[in-house]
Amino acid sequence: MSTQSVQENHRHRVVVIGSGFGGLFGTKHLKHADVDVTLISKTSTHLFQPLLYQVATGILSVGEIAPATRLVLRKQENAQVLLGDVIDIDLEHKTVTSQLLNQNTITPFDSLIVATGAQQSYFGNDKFATYAPGMKTIDDALELRARILGSFEGAELATTQEVRDRLLTFVVIGAGPTGVELAGQIAELADRTLEGTFHNIDPRDARVILVEGAGAVLGPMGPKLGGKAKRRLEKMGVEIQLNAMVTNVDAHGVTVKDADGTVRRIESSCKVWSAGVQASPLGKMLAERSDGTETDRAGRVIVEPDLTIKGHPNVFVVGDLMSVPNVPGQAQGAIQGATYAAKQIKAGLKGQAPQDRKPFKYFNKGSMATVSRFSAVCQVGKLEFGGFIAWLAWLALHLYYLVGYRSRIITVIQWFVTFLGRTRGQMAATEQWVFARLAVEAVQADQQDADELAAALGAPPAENGKAARSEKAADRKVG
Ligand SMILES: Cc1cc2nc3c(=O)[nH]c(=O)nc-3n(C[C@H](O)[C@H](O)[C@H](O)COP(=O)(O)OP(=O)(O)OC[C@H]3O[C@@H](n4cnc5c(N)ncnc54)[C@H](O)[C@@H]3O)c2cc1C
Repeated sequence: MSTQSVQENHRHRVVVIGSGFGGLFGTKHLKHADVDVTLISKTSTHLFQPLLYQVATGILSVGEIAPATRLVLRKQENAQVLLGDVIDIDLEHKTVTSQLLNQNTITPFDSLIVATGAQQSYFGNDKFATYAPGMKTIDDALELRARILGSFEGAELATTQEVRDRLLTFVVIGAGPTGVELAGQIAELADRTLEGTFHNIDPRDARVILVEGAGAVLGPMGPKLGGKAKRRLEKMGVEIQLNAMVTNVDAHGVTVKDADGTVRRIESSCKVWSAGVQASPLGKMLAERSDGTETDRAGRVIVEPDLTIKGHPNVFVVGDLMSVPNVPGQAQGAIQGATYAAKQIKAGLKGQAPQDRKPFKYFNKGSMATVSRFSAVCQVGKLEFGGFIAWLAWLALHLYYLVGYRSRIITVIQWFVTFLGRTRGQMAATEQWVFARLAVEAVQADQQDADELAAALGAPPAENGKAARSEKAADRKVG
């Protein structure tokens, strides 16, 4: 099949990159449009990130929050789903190159929606990730679950008080919504679920420490709600350390610098990083290739008022990857941005010129964070409230946005079990979950070393080296 013939005979082709909120909602909005949509994502699922912390703390299973994207889109006849890591976007020739193992796939587009989101940022200290995983992916959540539960198991076997204390100290770095939710759930896990299940330790002795570089918990939600969340966490026994910068993380703990310059150490085996985000690298690539488009400090693309990049009115950037004043990195921003982009594509098919587009307008529906069972904080416009009502609102909203009836029903059952009883339905964890990421990193590092050595010696890379792999990579065109 020649590329030429594919390009001559086609409907308007929309490529969507990413299967998160932006990618999925953008694709769904094009269901009845006269277009062919190809959704390319490096993960095969639509991940509902706001509930990742419940997977990490044994409340929900992965299936509930991450349905397979192709099953979600099975009834959308104009949509095709491709698994692959997008490694190149050619704006001139209008193609996207994605990679799966050693196969490259080139997909042409007429319109493009890029929704590749953000990843954890360690502010230049990527080595911290080895000891303090983030909370962005399914792998992160499962690794963390295994680390949390493994720490209690290790403490049961510890032969010295020092080791036991280290294993029973959990440090959560960053007091945004994710940090608050995690700290609250680790405390409840120790106090309610695990209580009475060990012989040598009392899980209620666990210390949960929430460390925050700024001066407030849930800073962007303001002092009233931040204060409520802080008091609730403290009531549950969570130690909150504000104005405390984590300056180092290693296998056995973290180093913290306080506002007065004091440097101290917290001994802890289990650390979680929820302190910062960095936009997907595709943002920088797009900015560099489009004349005059810039990125902000977090690598997000500073888009035009119609969410496109300069000189390319057919290339939209939405969700956590876009930088638009007063639009937070939240699901609502991604959903509204993607829906807007899909509408512009449909209007274009009806003859609307790009210059006639009305600018994207964000409607702020509010924000919320849950602190513990029966307690959340909620902000809707000028209205701020916390406690049980906020928690019910949080439950309802999250159920509404979960994809699929099956997921919703099972999630409700799991919540009943967890919040009304003392048990949790998803307490499985394996050794592999703890070590798999490190093993993959070690293999990749070895491979890089081997390739670099081969290049330095002027020899061809090893047969299984990266360069050899890419030489052998088969390029395939998708119509
Ligand atoms: C732990 C956590 C809790 C949160 N809680 C809330 C909350 O309570 N309320 C709220 O509104 N928001 C919350 N958010 C934020 C919300 O989840 C994000 O704003 C939203 O997911 C952004 O959607 P997106 O489509 O831009 O990116 P994402 O949902 O991150 O999706 C990005 C997609 O792109 C894919 N991708 C990335 N790079 C590539 C590539 N190179 N090639 C192919 N595919 C790629 C990924 O696999 C993924 O499918 C939370 C986020 C996290 C991490």
